Amino acid sequence: MNKTFKLGSIAGLKLLAKPTVLPSILLVWLLYSLLGRKVFKLKPEQAILGGLLATLLHWFNEFWHNLGHAQAAKQTGYPMSGVCFVGPLGSSLYPPDEPTLPPHIHVRRALGGPIASGILALVTGALALAAHSLGGIPFMAATLTCLDNLLVFTIGAFLPLGFTDGDTLLRYMNMNKRPSQWLTVAE
Ligand SMILES: [Zn+2]
Repeated sequence: MNKTFKLGSIAGLKLLAKPTVLPSILLVWLLYSLLGRKVFKLKPEQAILGGLLATLLHWFNEFWHNLGHAQAAKQTGYPMSGVCFVGPLGSSLYPPDEPTLPPHIHVRRALGGPIASGILALVTGALALAAHSLGGIPFMAATLTCLDNLLVFTIGAFLPLGFTDGDTLLRYMNMNKRPSQWLTVAE
């Protein structure tokens, strides 16, 4: 299961995927379809279709989050090289030969993703409100996409779970307080 698939490149970022992405797509689709049926009270075929749309949008949200990291990284002068999709999430890739960078560069790059996701949560939240009277698949997809961006890619990204942007921020913001130390810290 350690194989990595090359999916090509978009916006100068190479896209890689681990085999765990496939079962994750099916699980997310199942979960969203159940929400469509139980929470949004859609007919089964509508719930499945809305679930598929929200699933595709979940991976778009992940990519968008990484575009936020990539944009911030470009501004620091130390750009990202790609994105690796793993399970239902993804991680930013940086050139392996990058020099040791000062903490504020890591902090700026780490903030770029949650900021981009927060903006998309606001936009899709407004779309969900607009689609409320329509109901059906548009309301379901917009609401789930808003919650995904808000809970997973903005708030969730800040939670220190061991692999998140929040962990990167904690690590490098602590170093920022002790500037004499970071010079000798290797990554
Ligand atoms: Zn991130």
